[in-house]
Amino acid sequence: MSEVITIGEPLVILASKDMDKKLEDVKTFQRLLGGAELNVSIGISRLGHSVQYISQVGDDPFGKYVKKEINGHNVGTDYILEDNEHWTGHQIKQLVSTGDPDTFNYRKNSAASYLTSEVVDKIDLSDVKFAHMSGIFPAISSTAEDTFRKLFKKLIDNNVRTTFDPNLRPQLWESEETMRKTINNLAGMANIVLPGINEGKILMGSSDPEEIADFYLKGEQTETVIVKVGPDGAFVKNKDGEKFTVRGFKVDHVVDTVGAGDGFALGVISALLEDKPLKSAVLRGNAVGALQVQTPGDNDGYPTPDELKAFYEKEEVAE
Ligand code: ATP
Repeated sequence: MSEVITIGEPLVILASKDMDKKLEDVKTFQRLLGGAELNVSIGISRLGHSVQYISQVGDDPFGKYVKKEINGHNVGTDYILEDNEHWTGHQIKQLVSTGDPDTFNYRKNSAASYLTSEVVDKIDLSDVKFAHMSGIFPAISSTAEDTFRKLFKKLIDNNVRTTFDPNLRPQLWESEETMRKTINNLAGMANIVLPGINEGKILMGSSDPEEIADFYLKGEQTETVIVKVGPDGAFVKNKDGEKFTVRGFKVDHVVDTVGAGDGFALGVISALLEDKPLKSAVLRGNAVGALQVQTPGDNDGYPTPDELKAFYEKEEVAE
């Protein structure tokens, strides 16, 4: 088995190659692979740790592409099932010179949304030290939410440590109210909760990092809350009342912020796997987030161990 597992939906992204064109006018697309939890898996593997990604793809060319790519990133595919009745989820994405690109999803009734909870019985947790969970997978269908909850329960029963990133995707939920209730409930099942400051505002009504942390520390399993505050880094509070802020890194040119939150999660998880103290783990989260915002793709900024070392040397910080 692997040190880390995660569950999610891989998305084939057809990214426009025609700058500033409306999606209906785009003539040429480039095929890329996306998915928040997959980004985390890729980054964890790049830092030298073993990871399995749980999902379901269609018995179609996109499904085959996804599995081949995931294998190429050295992420385990033992628990990627194939569904011959539903397509692999995909998305078309605009290329824009400024601002946020338009996206359009073809993921309703995707193969991943039909991943039933039977997969959970097959998962061998014997060597698993961390599981990364996020609020996207339970949003894609009620079947996916059942599977997600059953996996979470199995992780708790087996004392596997868990991180939870709310990863809000309002368009996937039937209402904001359902999103808020479900995400806040699921967060309480995780040992470490990783909300962003903007997510805190939507989920519990405050933009104050400590108030957000205090809210999530009420969760039954939650021991630590790490609130991401963008370029400023992160605020951390533990159940025993210990609290501290960990500095962010100054980036001269932000290319694309997608994947920063996933980079943060994988930085924290990989450092904790290496028995680093929490402060160092959060610093690594900030470092990977800062590296990621300097690249155009969703996960191409995630470092190898040598690249991380070089970044710390350049920044003159010690882990
Ligand atoms: P998203 O889900 O959109 O990726 P998030 O709210 O989960 O975002 P952010 O706070 O945007 O996460 O980013 C995660 C971490 O990445 C931050 O805590 C910070 O360390 C780093 N980071 C993000 N943006 C910047 C930036 N502009 N400059 C430097 N570091 C950044």
